[in-house]
Amino acid sequence: MPSETATCLSENLRRSGKILQHPVFNRYHTEHEMLRYLKKLEERDLAMNRSMISLGSCTMKLNATAEMLPITWPEFANLHPFAPTDQTEGYRELLRGLQTQLEAVTGFDAICLQPNSGASGEYTGLLAIRRYHEANGGANRNVCLIPQSAHGTNPATAAMLGMQIIVVKTDEKGNVDIADLKEKAEANKDKLGALMITYPSTHGVYEEGIRDICRIIHDNGGQVYMDGANMNAQVGIMQPAEVGADVLHMNLHKTFCIPHGGGGPGMGPIGLKAHLAPFAPSHTVAPVEGATAGMGAVSAAPYGSAGILPITWMYITMMGKQGMRQATEWALLNANYVAKQLSADYPILYTGKNGRVAHECIVDLRPLKAESGISETDIAKRLMDYGFHAPTVSFPVPGTLMIEPTESESKAELDRFIAALKSIKQEVLKVQNGEWPKDDNPLVNAPHTAFNLTDGEWAHPYTREEAVFPLPYVRENKFWPSVNRVDDVFGDRNLVCSCPPVEVYEG
Ligand SMILES: *Cc1c(COP(=O)(O)O)cnc(C)c1O
Repeated sequence: MPSETATCLSENLRRSGKILQHPVFNRYHTEHEMLRYLKKLEERDLAMNRSMISLGSCTMKLNATAEMLPITWPEFANLHPFAPTDQTEGYRELLRGLQTQLEAVTGFDAICLQPNSGASGEYTGLLAIRRYHEANGGANRNVCLIPQSAHGTNPATAAMLGMQIIVVKTDEKGNVDIADLKEKAEANKDKLGALMITYPSTHGVYEEGIRDICRIIHDNGGQVYMDGANMNAQVGIMQPAEVGADVLHMNLHKTFCIPHGGGGPGMGPIGLKAHLAPFAPSHTVAPVEGATAGMGAVSAAPYGSAGILPITWMYITMMGKQGMRQATEWALLNANYVAKQLSADYPILYTGKNGRVAHECIVDLRPLKAESGISETDIAKRLMDYGFHAPTVSFPVPGTLMIEPTESESKAELDRFIAALKSIKQEVLKVQNGEWPKDDNPLVNAPHTAFNLTDGEWAHPYTREEAVFPLPYVRENKFWPSVNRVDDVFGDRNLVCSCPPVEVYEG
């Protein structure tokens, strides 16, 4: 069916081979089959529609249906990013409204909606800092200070901009070592470009020295980039701009309800103080409203993944100022509840001076591992048998779990999760005191599949019930992992292809 479009392509650009030959593209030809196929895939996923995902630093909060509905409307979903402005008035009104909302939340003077992720926001922010320095005779300001506890994207971003990274120490309480910061800032006074700092820190604690930290950087000619991935602990109770940040990214797909996980589109807009605002990106094809002409783009589209911005607009609009403050307070309460409840069984690694955490807590498994041989991975995998996705494992501290419950979880759900971790502690003790062998116990064998239960003789020193129904509540809503343990590192390094073999494609 050579259409007009097809024939306008020159011969050597036209596809002659067949496409989408993999069986998966040719097996499901009725709506029923397609629906069941999607359901099958869904059931293999231990997702938010089954139980809480307490991934520290990821803010896996509710993505409310009311927030999600508008993105399905063709008026939002089907607009081309380069559509002429007289056709995009409604969209632009929504974007301006969202900018105003985010300015109110963060205290910044301008919001740039172009970056498509947190990491992309970091890049955009550091780029604005560099352009600012260049415009002010500081082209040599190339040093970027980054605390030890930073998220990996921070040094990666600084490296992408060709900056010289200097790592700042953290003290035994997990805070930035201010003496070390001061020494390094002063030593690099003439070429200090920026500090990248996460607040509250990735250790889950409000850093008390944050204002001093910002002042030290400014006194030495640098700019403060704040990583706003932890905005869920700030919204409504404080503003990053007021604390001293010059620029910050927000992960709309964390704090502001855009669904994430599985690599869906994100949005990482940045807030900028007035002096940096002129250095935010514009776009050559479709200039960004209010941006300085000539400032190169960081994304293909002028407003990034604009199609998902209605989610955040809905969230902020429906919650209002009071609601968002309350959400933050609940997030803090939930994290502190979990930390307190677990502290009898597991040490909580970092707390502030009142013994509290911010919106997440780090559970230290290293002492237990040293005594029992049971690793953080064993515990993370065992949680699946209890129906829970693991928290963040070994970030930012190896051998730990970082738990972030968010405001979206009820006390009942938190209690189920706490009960699971307490029960797991008892299991570890059984290994430690020799009741179960170190190489054959429900922890090292986790997760257990339905196949494991019925595959020949059950030869383990624990029962089938202990394996798959370790607590009464599990019976009521059992998740069956579809495969046994995958060695994470081995799996990451050894791609197993489930496609038909390459020979099939020969000739
Ligand atoms: C998630 C996260 C980022 C990166 O955000 P992406 O949207 O994944 O690129 C940066 N810093 C911290 C602390 C984060 O948690």
